[in-house]
Amino acid sequence: MKTFSDPAEMKRELQRHTNMSIGFVPTMGAFHQGHISLIERAKEENQIVVVSIFVNPTQFDNKDDLNNYPSSLEDDISFLNKMNVDYLFTPSYADLYPDNYVYKVEETSFSKELCGRSRDGHFTGVLTVVMKLLNIIQPGKAYFGEKDRQQLLLVQGMVDAFFMDVKVIASPTVREKDGLALSSRNRLLKEDERQIAALFPKLLNSEKSDAEIAEELNRNGLKTDYIETHGGIRYGAVFLGNVRLIDNVKL
Ligand code: AMP
Repeated sequence: MKTFSDPAEMKRELQRHTNMSIGFVPTMGAFHQGHISLIERAKEENQIVVVSIFVNPTQFDNKDDLNNYPSSLEDDISFLNKMNVDYLFTPSYADLYPDNYVYKVEETSFSKELCGRSRDGHFTGVLTVVMKLLNIIQPGKAYFGEKDRQQLLLVQGMVDAFFMDVKVIASPTVREKDGLALSSRNRLLKEDERQIAALFPKLLNSEKSDAEIAEELNRNGLKTDYIETHGGIRYGAVFLGNVRLIDNVKL
């Protein structure tokens, strides 16, 4: 596996392979089986696979959340080597934001709902960094998890709106045995918090109304940010201590 951090060098290297299919998996690292499933799928469907690891500060509305975001770069790199990934892209903030974030990609409708309501500027940070990464890597296919469905839909919308030459591939949510969606943030949960976290997917999948689910979550110590159904999908976000968990299920 070759590693690059400079966007121009990464771009130049990949331009040597314009006759090959390139699959791209953007991540913030601290890998779990959810990430691995996206990378495996990219391996199956492309001749060259590029994975990026970049904890994108512009999508964090909360400094503590950014500072506490888990990191396991050495383990991540050995996973990528074992999976025979071709390229790892690990830019710094200065590499990716030579403009210091004066240029932004903003969606003005769905990005203001659900997570966007409490996380000011979150999706503008996400869309901006994804646009930058796609412009550098120029993959034929880019892989995103259904776990972050609002993000997935917004990225798909951006690609359509800006006539970008990439196919967005949606990959199903990988879950623990008790139903909890895998997330890098799960490793920040204390043991007792981890136990009750399973109630979150269980209730999302239940026959109860959104309001009843929110009430029951709150009663059990999962502080509800929102439980809302849009287009046949029930979305939810809860806090367990300082850790914010999101999930969504098809009804
Ligand atoms: P992250 O590193 O959290 O930004 O996630 C990188 C990619 O992995 C995103 O496209 C996520 O939607 C996806 N992802 C995260 N958790 C899961 C999961 N449990 N199952 C499937 N994909 C996931």
